[in-house]
Amino acid sequence: MIGSIKETKEILEKYKLKARKSFGQNFLVDSNIINKIVTSAGLTKQDGVIEIGPGIGAMTEVMLEKTKKVLCYEIDSNMTRVLREEINSDDLIIKEEDFLKADINKDLENFVDCERVLVISNLPYYITTPIIFKLLECENRIDEFYFMVQKEVGARLTGKPKTKDYNSLSVLIEYQADAQLLFDVKRNCFYPAPDVDSVIIKLKKVKREYEAKNRGLFVKFVQDVFAMRRKTFINNLLNKYPISRENITTQLRNYGFSETLRAEELTTRELVDMFNVLF
Ligand code: SAM
Repeated sequence: MIGSIKETKEILEKYKLKARKSFGQNFLVDSNIINKIVTSAGLTKQDGVIEIGPGIGAMTEVMLEKTKKVLCYEIDSNMTRVLREEINSDDLIIKEEDFLKADINKDLENFVDCERVLVISNLPYYITTPIIFKLLECENRIDEFYFMVQKEVGARLTGKPKTKDYNSLSVLIEYQADAQLLFDVKRNCFYPAPDVDSVIIKLKKVKREYEAKNRGLFVKFVQDVFAMRRKTFINNLLNKYPISRENITTQLRNYGFSETLRAEELTTRELVDMFNVLF
């Protein structure tokens, strides 16, 4: 089994490799955690899995046992060489490329014979947010995601209004998905151990009954109103948009909000409402 500290060190030694920090390489070496992630997803032999950054294949190996097939994107050719040589399975499709440049919709053709397609990944932390947004924004059949992320990022991704973790990221996730923190993963479950603890989160894509008039502008609006946390909603807006204080105040009052309101007090739905009436 690849996902143990002994075997991970042996494989790295065998291929004369070192974990590359620039690619966010921290390998999972705790088989209980690997099994817990895979079990959480309730995988069956009818399912297909997309894995981003399989590394030397600790999770890949276990997922191949539980599903019909796994398609993985790995940027590092050293890792894909290990995968090809250590995992002998016709059900593994390896894409040696940067996931951020991948054509997911085209690659989904590999899963025509699968009932569901899920994404399960111990993410490279330096590109957590772009990966998540690429997946959520893609119009396709994938709607369930299990991600290992840095603990603080997990708190923000699942943050609720009026808490310290609630920010633009929480809103932009909530706008398109139900987010759930599943469980903690300590830093010593990885080799090499990172400086941070981690969490597993589950995202389930949803279609809300409310919608911003313009998605791109709404994303910018949310980032702008949270830009300076201690500033009021009005002052953050005045900083960025040619819009009058009176106009914003009137709309806030119409919705029963005070002028001193801060963005962190508004739910995603309320932010969508404010965006739609102001722009
Ligand atoms: N899944 C393995 C595990 O759990 O042991 C490795 C996880 S490691 C945190 C992240 C992996 O993502 C590394 O193998 C790294 O090479 C890969 N990676 C980094 N940037 C990537 C990118 N842009 N596209 C695809 N893979 C990437």
